[in-house]
Amino acid sequence: MNLVCVPIAVDHPDMVGLALERAGLAADRGANLIEWRVDALAEDPQALGAMRRLVRESPLPAIVTIRAAAEGGLYDGDDRDRVSLLESLGTSGDPPRYLDVEWSSYSRSANLAQKIDLVVDHPGQARAVETRLILSLHDLEGRPRDLLQKVAAMAQEPACAIVKLAWRARSIRDNLELFDLLSERPAPMAAMGLGPFGLMSRVLSPKFGGFMAYAALESDLATADGQPTIEELLETYRYREVGPATEVFGIVGWPVAHSQSPAFHNARFREQDRDAVLVPMPVAPGWEPFMASLGAMLDHPRLSFRGACVTMPHKEHLCRFVAERGGAVEPLAARIGAANTLLVRKDGSLLAANTDAPAAAEAMASGFSIDPSTLGPRSLAQKRIAVLGAGGAAAAVAAGLAAHGASVVIANRTADRAEALAERLAKSGEGAWRVSAATLDSLACGCFHGFVNATPIGMAGGPEPDGSPLPDEVVLDDSIVVFDTVYAPARTPLLAEAASRGAKIVAGLEMFTRQAVRQQALFAE
Ligand code: NAP
Repeated sequence: MNLVCVPIAVDHPDMVGLALERAGLAADRGANLIEWRVDALAEDPQALGAMRRLVRESPLPAIVTIRAAAEGGLYDGDDRDRVSLLESLGTSGDPPRYLDVEWSSYSRSANLAQKIDLVVDHPGQARAVETRLILSLHDLEGRPRDLLQKVAAMAQEPACAIVKLAWRARSIRDNLELFDLLSERPAPMAAMGLGPFGLMSRVLSPKFGGFMAYAALESDLATADGQPTIEELLETYRYREVGPATEVFGIVGWPVAHSQSPAFHNARFREQDRDAVLVPMPVAPGWEPFMASLGAMLDHPRLSFRGACVTMPHKEHLCRFVAERGGAVEPLAARIGAANTLLVRKDGSLLAANTDAPAAAEAMASGFSIDPSTLGPRSLAQKRIAVLGAGGAAAAVAAGLAAHGASVVIANRTADRAEALAERLAKSGEGAWRVSAATLDSLACGCFHGFVNATPIGMAGGPEPDGSPLPDEVVLDDSIVVFDTVYAPARTPLLAEAASRGAKIVAGLEMFTRQAVRQQALFAE
């Protein structure tokens, strides 16, 4: 059973009722354990009574934690008072299932350790005791010093039932050490990377024998940086289904926190009953971080890394990476100079593919009432289409349209970039593509059958969420197709305006879904 623990912070005796209600919700949502985080409560004169009630009325087995400020908690009082509270709780009629005590405190004072040992189960314990000890190690900055020595020392403590490790992951590579520690664990262990780089360590913990993962009841109730909600962990990331043989896929980019790829691909894996999961793999901009991170994922002997969706700003890096590793770059991706899909075949060979380009062509074709499944090299030969933007999305869209015969005109805020992209695409590969550049002003010629927005204008949270990239002078009517690659929101200001003027509209989700379906087909190879 892949255990999930939901931590609930209780800062004041007045919060006990609410906290118990939250614990009930956590149980309903599938949690197995509740961690009562009573750091702040512990300094209240009524703390013991409140803690007893929390443990007694907890709907699930409870962990009680009074986390010290030095390890990221709120408890700033005397260690002796803290231990006295735990001692009193442990000897009460309803002791908790676990006490969590930091290794730094436990190892610092023999007297303190002795008092804890009195209330937890261990080979030398004279009484029948239900409570077990979690010895924990936290570092909010990075990998703890002397990590391996500390882990060995914690595991050797007779009273230690579970070793818990949590430190700030500074890149996705840090997760691999956590996986190695879990795989070679000398005692039951929970291990997680804090922060956004560490999410994959929480999701994949059961693959390496981790004892449990922590998840928040709601995102605003998280007690640690990077903690997913229980719903995300169980639904989006299939935590319960993760096991030793689970194949791992990633969404690689910067940022990736709001990507829809995990929800899309994990839902497909679930439908297919495939033992696979796709997790966020944030990789900082630049070739070096990309090469080092992907290389480490591929070379890890136990990760079973099978591929990735690759997004901004690493699409160009993916082509270079696969070529340098002796893999195959699909001709279309090579021609565009960017790929969005990495496949690691069962024999270990690599493939880089671009599913954005065909997806964009299919999306546009649907706007022209052409059945996307019938698209051939000349299907769009009668169409003249303007692409706004000259970045990665524009390159894929322009290539996808040109590959089906369209005459493509690229227009961009920075005109030089439009010219450079048009020239590069027109000259790339075999079989000339009709791609040229124009200024934004010239788009009002009345000579286009369609317009595509490949800038972030209109995107929620983007540079101009209420804006439209199309110059006002452009005339739209029902003979024209307007396709916005932006998919959040689903109906952008451009699409709303185009629809109001009678144009046919194609939403960005059409392209997103089509490129993701193609990625699924590749992941199945
Ligand atoms: P990118 O490489 O950063 O390129 C952005 C382009 O937009 C550049 O040409 C840039 O012009 C232009 N631009 C940015 N801000 C602008 C502004 N305020 N006014 C005018 N032009 C502006 O980004 P990308 O990877 O091509 O992605 C662009 C958009 O495509 C994304 O925001 C995303 O919504 C969408 N997209 C959708 C899908 C899908 O599946 N539907 C897939 C990929 C991308 P300069 O050259 O002048 O800087």
